[in-house]
Amino acid sequence: MTQTARGSAEEHTGTVISETSSEPADFDSLDPRTGETVGTHPVHDQSRVQRAVDTARTGQRWWEELGFEGRKRRLDAWRRLLAARLDEAAELISAETGKPRDDARLELVLVVDHLHWAAANAPKVLGRRRVSPGVLMSNQAATVEYRPFGVVGVIGPWNYPAFTPMGSIAYALAAGNAVVFKPSELTPGVGEWLASTFAEVVPEHPLLQVVTGFGETGAALCRADTDKVAFTGSTETGKRVMAACSESLTPVLVECGGKDALIVDSDADLRAAAEAAVWGAVSNAGQTCIGVERVYVVDSVADRFVQLVSDRVEKLRPGGQPTADLGPITMSSQVDVIREHIAEGARRGGRAVVGGDDSVRPPYVDPVVLTDVPEDSAAVTEETFGPTIVINRVRTADEGIERANAGRYGLGGTVFSRARGNELARRMRSGMVAVNSVISFAAVPALPFGGVGDSGFGRIHGADGLREFTRAQAVTRTRFPMPINPMTFGRSARTVRRLVALMRLVRGR
Ligand code: NDP
Repeated sequence: MTQTARGSAEEHTGTVISETSSEPADFDSLDPRTGETVGTHPVHDQSRVQRAVDTARTGQRWWEELGFEGRKRRLDAWRRLLAARLDEAAELISAETGKPRDDARLELVLVVDHLHWAAANAPKVLGRRRVSPGVLMSNQAATVEYRPFGVVGVIGPWNYPAFTPMGSIAYALAAGNAVVFKPSELTPGVGEWLASTFAEVVPEHPLLQVVTGFGETGAALCRADTDKVAFTGSTETGKRVMAACSESLTPVLVECGGKDALIVDSDADLRAAAEAAVWGAVSNAGQTCIGVERVYVVDSVADRFVQLVSDRVEKLRPGGQPTADLGPITMSSQVDVIREHIAEGARRGGRAVVGGDDSVRPPYVDPVVLTDVPEDSAAVTEETFGPTIVINRVRTADEGIERANAGRYGLGGTVFSRARGNELARRMRSGMVAVNSVISFAAVPALPFGGVGDSGFGRIHGADGLREFTRAQAVTRTRFPMPINPMTFGRSARTVRRLVALMRLVRGR
């Protein structure tokens, strides 16, 4: 047990403040490029997490009562602050994940845009509106509005330590909730930075708090008295989160991994498709939930496509410098998974056209292109989360769609086709599809984001993402007495008869 460096001041830094009576253990976040310590953070246990949730509840009432306009003013101030200090946050993201500086900056650009959208659109999407009372209740004024849940627990991964959790945090706050956020043990500093900057513009209450620690701290958040848990991470942990939340019937949003496919049709712009495949697979060292992990290319254009991809990939190098093409594998244990997928692909008859076993040089992995890998090998069925691309040939784009849909995941997908883009996209079993570009849907704040199958359920971003953090509340108000009232013991036999006749007249035809 050691004294933590943080949380000694009384102001709301966003971090749960340490008590002197029972000091929590500390842990370090490390720079995966160098192994150097980036920061030291407390391990929060169940009682600390519960205290954060209790504190959040008081502030939440104030936040809700501010209304959409009051919250928007504060969220806009936070957005401006994030934009102004974007480079500071990018340095921290680079330090904790190892990703190149411009990738971190790009992530933060998306954060700023989503925050703007959530604050600007919350009134329209969630505010009270009248709906038709229908023929039976024409004497009623009927309204619906979307009220905040209260306190939302957000559990996030490390690969996009700002963009991914902010998909929940920004939308939950805009909807009027308070948030307790458990960042990945690999990126606690980014979580604390987000909370402390929020506290700068909203000093009144700790509405965005961070609890740090390992999996147990996340599990504690599931058992704390939150009103919803928004989880982003692996499918296996997602199942554990759901099981824990089921004990208290706490609703969950589960955003998990993927094995996204890119389909290249015979009429596709091959240069654009190759560029997209390489960016989708290799950027962020392949550690992207909606990264391109598999490509299905139509036979007639396959040789040319593989050549274009190989030419591009061969020029890319990982490294620790801020301007590297790609950084290290952030989570060291993932290196073994990547190594095994490459090795198994080769053992099972696949061909490494760029790189191979030697490409794995922890903490870095050089980009690898594998072709003709059996469809039942791990490199095709499991999330690799590394800078590898599997390219398999198909007779037609339709066969590509069939193979893309055969997996257990269904997060995103990509289609390159001049004539059939939208048609093929609609047949993909996934939550999002990009036609003739890659990953673009994540940068459109108005679009919902989330998956099916083992990729989870529920949506962040867009109107669906705002509603995800609310409960719909329906209200009817009597405007005048009902001419025919069947819902009273004073009704006559004629009342229901007349009602049935009326219903047959207007709805029975
Ligand atoms: P993990 O599932 O390992 O961890 C996710 C979060 O859950 C971490 O904060 C982790 O804490 C926490 N956690 C671990 N155990 C528990 C538990 N029992 N109860 C509650 N929380 C727990 O995922 P990674 O961090 O490795 O992230 C990578 C995964 O995230 C990939 O599968 C990727 O595809 C997916 N992902 C999905 C996205 C989407 O939007 N669909 C976006 C980005 C990533 P700790 O780190 O301390 O163990």
